[in-house]
Amino acid sequence: MYCRNCGEQVDPNAKVCVKCGSETLKGKYYCNNCGQATDENASICSKCGIALKNVGSRSKMVAGLLGLFLGSLGVHRFYLGYIGIGILQIVVTIVTCGIGSLWGFIEGILILVGNFDKDFDGNNLAD
Ligand SMILES: [Zn+2]
Ligand SMILES: [Zn+2]
Repeated sequence: MYCRNCGEQVDPNAKVCVKCGSETLKGKYYCNNCGQATDENASICSKCGIALKNVGSRSKMVAGLLGLFLGSLGVHRFYLGYIGIGILQIVVTIVTCGIGSLWGFIEGILILVGNFDKDFDGNNLAD
């Protein structure tokens, strides 16, 4: 894939660009799929047609706190768009008499420390 800030080709798993040092998907100037220069406000690449990855509108802080306090009910998952997993977390909490609520709680921590930073649409969570 390509750095969205400078257009440099980078490792598909790279979070930070080796050339410009910015986070590879936080830029707005190049397509992460084909490297085509894109308009700052474009949401779809004019060359290859993929949806451009951007930092989304969902807040990391909100998602993390929802996970910590309401993670047993999967509320942070609903907030992030992962409806199926949210429902599963409710079920797990019920069938384990509450022990399973640790799952959502731990995810809340992972969100806050930045280890879980994508919403269902593939956007990075906003700081
Ligand atoms: Zn770069
Ligand atoms: Zn493209």
